[in-house]
Amino acid sequence: CGIIGYIGKREAAPLLLNGLKRLEYRGYDSAGMAVMNGSMQVLKQKGSVGNLEELLNVSGSVMLGATIGIAHTRWATHGDPSDRNAHPHMNISDDIALIHNGIIENYTTLKKELISQGYEFESDTDSEVLVHLIDRVWKADPSIGLEGAVRQALRHVEGAYGICVVSSREPDKIVVARKGSPLVIGLGDGEYFIASDAAPIVEHTNKVVYLLDGEMAVVTHENYTVKTIENVEQEKRVTELDFSL
Ligand code: GLU
Repeated sequence: CGIIGYIGKREAAPLLLNGLKRLEYRGYDSAGMAVMNGSMQVLKQKGSVGNLEELLNVSGSVMLGATIGIAHTRWATHGDPSDRNAHPHMNISDDIALIHNGIIENYTTLKKELISQGYEFESDTDSEVLVHLIDRVWKADPSIGLEGAVRQALRHVEGAYGICVVSSREPDKIVVARKGSPLVIGLGDGEYFIASDAAPIVEHTNKVVYLLDGEMAVVTHENYTVKTIENVEQEKRVTELDFSL
């Protein structure tokens, strides 16, 4: 339902939490986040962003020092609202985390195939197939990197998605992709935001780049590149949001 990602110089967890609050108006049943500070740290649960904030107050010290992360408010379509079905979802080795807006139409087929190949599922969501697919293609060819793995995994997928993916194997980037579910990149001063709409971005910057359907982006601490899912680089226009209207 709601997506917010951050990569920059500031503490990611409080910024992500604040972003989730700006996305609450969309409605949701669960909230969660993943940040990286040497290793992957994930907190997620059923209930409000306020509940996630309490969890962060209690256990959030593991997230200190992380300047990159992704967060999600879920509106369940497949699988009950529950802690285990909240996003982010992780691969078996817990080094890839993914959040997803939308519906993966062919997830039953993909899930059966992945289970027959030894993948274990921790949720009842359609979304979780994405993280195991990424894991599978990446392990089959480690040279493709996270970006290549996301690109190749998406070839198997039918349905709608806006996704953000991070991996502690490549801890300096967020890989995002969209088809049928909006994503926007906010260009700050030495920092970038990724979100499902501009609401959590506007307090940080008025410069945004809207991704189109079929586009992917790799966002690092220094820059961002946008390509099609077929790997063709795209020239993107920066939109300046005008708040004076
Ligand atoms: N289909 C996914 C799920 O049920 C994502 C729902 C959403 O867009 O929040 O977990």
